[in-house]
Amino acid sequence: MASATDNRRSTASGRGAVGATRAATPAAGSVSPTEPIEPTEPPEGLLEELAEANGRLEGASPQRVIGWAYERFGEATVLTSSFQDAVLIDLAAQVRRPLSVVFLDTGFHFPETLAYMETVARKLDVHVEVVTSGLAPDVLPCGADGCCRARKVEPLAGVLAGGAAWLTGVKRVDTPERSRAATVGFDAAKGVVKVNPIVGWTEADVEAYVESRELPRHPLNAKGYYSIGCAPTTRPVAAGENPRAGRWGGTKTECGLHL
Ligand code: SF4
Repeated sequence: MASATDNRRSTASGRGAVGATRAATPAAGSVSPTEPIEPTEPPEGLLEELAEANGRLEGASPQRVIGWAYERFGEATVLTSSFQDAVLIDLAAQVRRPLSVVFLDTGFHFPETLAYMETVARKLDVHVEVVTSGLAPDVLPCGADGCCRARKVEPLAGVLAGGAAWLTGVKRVDTPERSRAATVGFDAAKGVVKVNPIVGWTEADVEAYVESRELPRHPLNAKGYYSIGCAPTTRPVAAGENPRAGRWGGTKTECGLHL
């Protein structure tokens, strides 16, 4: 696999900013978007350590879970965000400074998401690394077989190749597939420790946190969009509807990042 930096855009600018655009290099060892991903064996003793940590951290505050990750894995901890909200970033910024956040840019995001990313970077004083597949829009257009894999999963694999732990905003209420997600566990498909600090939160918890911290909101919230990914496959949801119902028109619930 290529080093983590090979697949990232420039990170030369300072904190509180989004890195300049640079075409990505495909991860060495990447496979065809339709080939199955081979699971990775964890190092000896890691599963036992994670099981103990998971038991200890289940129900703990997100800040404590995030603190454990950075204490255990240091610089090899990678925080990703889709910039549908700023909750995980704000929580991590209370624990880690300076803070770097990775955004996977598929090339199909709403312009509002890209603008929101700039707003969050400035307001929360974090540095955003924008990672892209480098594919042109007409190569594997949205909906084509392997597009999610090529534009999200493979670039993420390049990022995580330089990491040991991956901090995500996964919540059990998101989808049936996520309902049994652990706080801490080993992601064999990615070959990293996956850390889900807000896994036990509900949508009401998220809303209460956003309100209490006066976090900036994604501009499309005002139009009914809450789970926000690529523009062609994201729609607004009705009041009371699961936010994830607005993704992929009901044809699937996951793009592959969290499977
Ligand atoms: S949602 Fe569409 S554009 Fe985005 S990565 Fe998946 S298939 Fe590609």
